[in-house]
Amino acid sequence: MSFGSDIGLSGVYAGIDICGNGIKIGTVDDEGALLEADYIPLTEEQRTPEYIADRVAEGIEERSQAFSEGKDLDGVGIGFPGFLDKSGCVVLSPNLPAFNGVNVQKLFQERFPRLTITAAKVSNANAMGEYRFGIGRRLEAENLLVYTLGAGVDAGIIIGGKLFVGDRGFAGDLGHVKVFESSVYLKDQEIQCMCSRSGCVEQICGETAFATMFWQQEVDDPRDLMQKCGLDPLKTSSWGYKALASAMTPETMSQLTRDGNVTALHLWHRYGFYLGKAIGAALHTLAIDSIVIGGRIARFFNLFETGIREGLVHDGFPPARLDAIRIYKGEIDSRHAEIFGAAALAAASQP
Ligand SMILES: [Zn+2]
Repeated sequence: MSFGSDIGLSGVYAGIDICGNGIKIGTVDDEGALLEADYIPLTEEQRTPEYIADRVAEGIEERSQAFSEGKDLDGVGIGFPGFLDKSGCVVLSPNLPAFNGVNVQKLFQERFPRLTITAAKVSNANAMGEYRFGIGRRLEAENLLVYTLGAGVDAGIIIGGKLFVGDRGFAGDLGHVKVFESSVYLKDQEIQCMCSRSGCVEQICGETAFATMFWQQEVDDPRDLMQKCGLDPLKTSSWGYKALASAMTPETMSQLTRDGNVTALHLWHRYGFYLGKAIGAALHTLAIDSIVIGGRIARFFNLFETGIREGLVHDGFPPARLDAIRIYKGEIDSRHAEIFGAAALAAASQP
C-alpha cells in the first residue's frame, strides 16, 4: 500500500467494507478518485468483533497518520453486511453473527474521537457511492433506487440527495419482495429464503439464479444447457443443486449467451423479468424514476435489461409511467464499489 503525496486540498475519506471473508479498506477524495486500496483476508476463526475491530482500527490509524502532515482524514465510512439501526448497532448479521448487538459505529468512534465515523448496511453504502461518486454525478436526479446484485439482492434508497434509512435504520431491504408465484422448490421440498419465506427475488436473482430457475423448469431443453455447462444429463448424481449452481454461474451463462446459446439468453431474460417485478413492487410505493443496477452481476446488465422492462409491464405500469422510468447500469468501479460506497457515507456525513 502506498499513499500518494499529492492529495490536494479536497476532502479525503476512508471507506471500509467489512464482509464475511475479509476487510476492504481504502481512501477516496472528494472528486471520487481512489487514492489507495487494501484487502485484509479473514479466516473463520478471525471473524470476531475483537479481531476485526483491531484490524480496522489499525487501518484507520495508518491512514490518519499518512494524511496528517497535510490534513487529517475528513471522515470514515463503514459498510457492514447486516441490518444496522440508526445508531450503528448491528440488529442482525447472518454473515457475521458474532456482531449481533455490537454498535459498530460506537466501537470506532470511541477509538477515534476526532474523526466522524458513519456505519450502514453495505447496500445502503453502495447506493450512496453511486449517488456521490458514480452515475449520480452525471444524472440530475435527486432520487435514486440502487440495487446491489451479488450473492443476494439488496438495495438502497436515495431521496432528495440523502440516504433514506427509515425509522429502523435499514430501509431498502428489497431482496425479500416475493416475485415467484409459487414457492421455490428443489424436488418436492420447499426451499426457504433466509427470511423464512419462499419465492423472494433474492432466491431468483442472487448468484445461484440460474440453478434456481433451471430447477423451477424455466428451460425447455435442460439437456442441452447441462451439456453446455459441462454436466452429464444422464448422471443424476452429478447434477444436484450445488453442482448446477457452481456450473451455471452468471459468468458461464454470459459466455454461453455470447456463443449463441438460446436457452442461456432466455434465462437471462427471465432473470431480468423477475428483477423487474421486484423493482415494480418498490416503485409502486416510491414512485422514483431513476433505477440503478449495481453489484457484481450488473456487468451483464445488457443481457437482462429488456427483461426488467417486461417485468415492469407485467406488473401493470401504464405506458406513460414506463416511459418515465430510467434503468441505468451502475458506474462505480465494481472492484472497489464497497470502498467508494463507505467513503461516500463519510462524505455525506460532513456538515
Ligand atoms: Zn426472503
